[in-house]
Amino acid sequence: MSSMVYDVIIIGAGAAGLMCAIEAGKRGKKVWLIDHAKKLCEKIRISGGGRCNFTNIHTSPENFLSSNKHFCKYALKAYTPNDFITLIEKHKIAYHEKKLGQLFCDDSAQNIIDMLLAECQAAGVIISKETGVDRIEYEAGIYHLQTTKGFAHAPSLVVATGGLSIPKIGATGFGYDVAKQFNLNIIETRAGLVPLTFTDSLLERCKELSGLSVEAAVSYNKTSFSEGFLFTHRGLSGPSILQISSCWEQGNEITINLVNNVTVETFLKEQKEESSKQDIQNILAKIMPKRLAVSICEEQNLSGRIAEIGHKKLAELAVRINHWKAKPNGTEGYRTAEVTLGGVDTKALDPQTMEVKAQKGLFFIGEVVDVTGHLGGFNFQWAWSSGYVAGQAV
Ligand SMILES: Cc1cc2nc3c(=O)[nH]c(=O)nc-3n(C[C@H](O)[C@H](O)[C@H](O)COP(=O)(O)OP(=O)(O)OC[C@H]3O[C@@H](n4cnc5c(N)ncnc54)[C@H](O)[C@@H]3O)c2cc1C
Repeated sequence: MSSMVYDVIIIGAGAAGLMCAIEAGKRGKKVWLIDHAKKLCEKIRISGGGRCNFTNIHTSPENFLSSNKHFCKYALKAYTPNDFITLIEKHKIAYHEKKLGQLFCDDSAQNIIDMLLAECQAAGVIISKETGVDRIEYEAGIYHLQTTKGFAHAPSLVVATGGLSIPKIGATGFGYDVAKQFNLNIIETRAGLVPLTFTDSLLERCKELSGLSVEAAVSYNKTSFSEGFLFTHRGLSGPSILQISSCWEQGNEITINLVNNVTVETFLKEQKEESSKQDIQNILAKIMPKRLAVSICEEQNLSGRIAEIGHKKLAELAVRINHWKAKPNGTEGYRTAEVTLGGVDTKALDPQTMEVKAQKGLFFIGEVVDVTGHLGGFNFQWAWSSGYVAGQAV
């Protein structure tokens, strides 16, 4: 078996690993970037509905969840959304802001992959796919790897293997195993940015309304997100649900306001005064899709003219629409989750370099670290930023 010596070995050729490899390569380092997958960059390819929401121009530390909310600050400042935009523009990739600062490729996520691979090539990075790691040993300042392509040795080892989301395209818990091997703590992992599932009558409602979407505000504790909201045949999804799923804790209720800009109690009073002959379903259909109006009225046993519906019932209806309390029984899990919450405890890492403070030459970057972005391009920005700072330090 062959035995090669490098300056840096990076495990995981996703967003973070590629960025780190580019930066290290530009500094003249001999970099080996390996990935066990057959096809590189699958997550980038499927991201943002195939158009890759590659950053968010409003990125700030408040857009990230972590046991240490300060940890991400240095990297985000060292490599900003503007830095990534400069790279995109250098490669003449057309992009647009979809909404809320979210930047997407006009054409396809493939543009981003081509750009990153071209940058790697220009920086002299050696990339090997279908390459796994069987063993890692550390001795006298050098990491010795037994890989499926032979032995490899380097003073710097970067773990960029991502989280557990979408195992179908190559996600593994390998990064956490390496962390454990070097005695690092792992903050418990769970699926984030993931649809919520329900049982019983609520599931039946969701099935019945499957495909219907509205703008809704979804809250849990003191956190609230006001974006798209979708009924599916498994439960609830859409951006506002995905966002809240990252904060929600099992066994608790979420609160949903199905008509964001309307105080339904006042609206119903006004409608009653305007014409008491109006049908309640038609009244609700003025502020929400008719299918949803019908479903809510059926659920509340309401029909006919508003004049015939008592004050108490109307007040309950208003609460059902503006403050709907729903208790998920779980999430769809890693199978469909966009990210993994938790990961390598940031306490062990230097925020300026991503190096393990107590283990010289060992770095963790990207999603494997306990830093998780909100929906909207923040997770890729974290991958670019953490990859960049490690790339300067390896
Ligand atoms: C469907 C979907 C859509 C998304 N859309 C967006 C979006 O539009 N915007 C956004 O900001 N974020 C999005 N995300 C999240 C984003 O893709 C991730 O946060 C980001 O890719 C993390 O980058 P990473 O480099 O840390 O990990 P990854 O991109 O997951 O890369 C890890 C790499 O490590 C490799 N690997 C894993 N285990 C091993 C092993 N044992 N040996 C060797 N290699 C290994 C994997 O094959 C993979 O190539 C989306 C995620 C999903 C699932």
